[in-house]
Amino acid sequence: MTILRIRTQGDPVLRTPALTVTDFDESLRTLISDMFETMYAVKGVGLAAPQVGVGLQIFTWDIGDDSGHVINPSIEVGDEPQEGGEGCLSVPGPGYDTPRRDYAIITGVDMNGDPVRREGTGLLARCFQHETDHLHGTLFVDRLEGEVRKEAMRAMR
Ligand code: ZN
Repeated sequence: MTILRIRTQGDPVLRTPALTVTDFDESLRTLISDMFETMYAVKGVGLAAPQVGVGLQIFTWDIGDDSGHVINPSIEVGDEPQEGGEGCLSVPGPGYDTPRRDYAIITGVDMNGDPVRREGTGLLARCFQHETDHLHGTLFVDRLEGEVRKEAMRAMR
């Protein structure tokens, strides 16, 4: 297995919508196991393929006792908001309070093409929203509001 290089803000791959996975082959399995290896090596709780320079709709997560991967996910969220801090391996620097919804459900497939359907609240729901954003070329700093946003923009300059 290989630890992949994490791409950081400024790399165009992070701003490009990821493509649908169509080939469920050996290279896909290798990529996903490398993504897990990389996520654990950098002590992340979630990792999206564009963060390792691969523009495909895949992410992995490991939060508490829930870990997994999903390919070509779609997400639905509840109405209830949640507050909390958030950071990103691809945005070096501090985390910031980032508004999210408290409940999320993702549906997609796994590396064998079998259905994946996972729901969560709190941190798991936050992770699903954060990683799905990566697949659309969105970073968590885009979600910041008000004074927190101003502070983050200052810090990034
Ligand atoms: Zn991230």
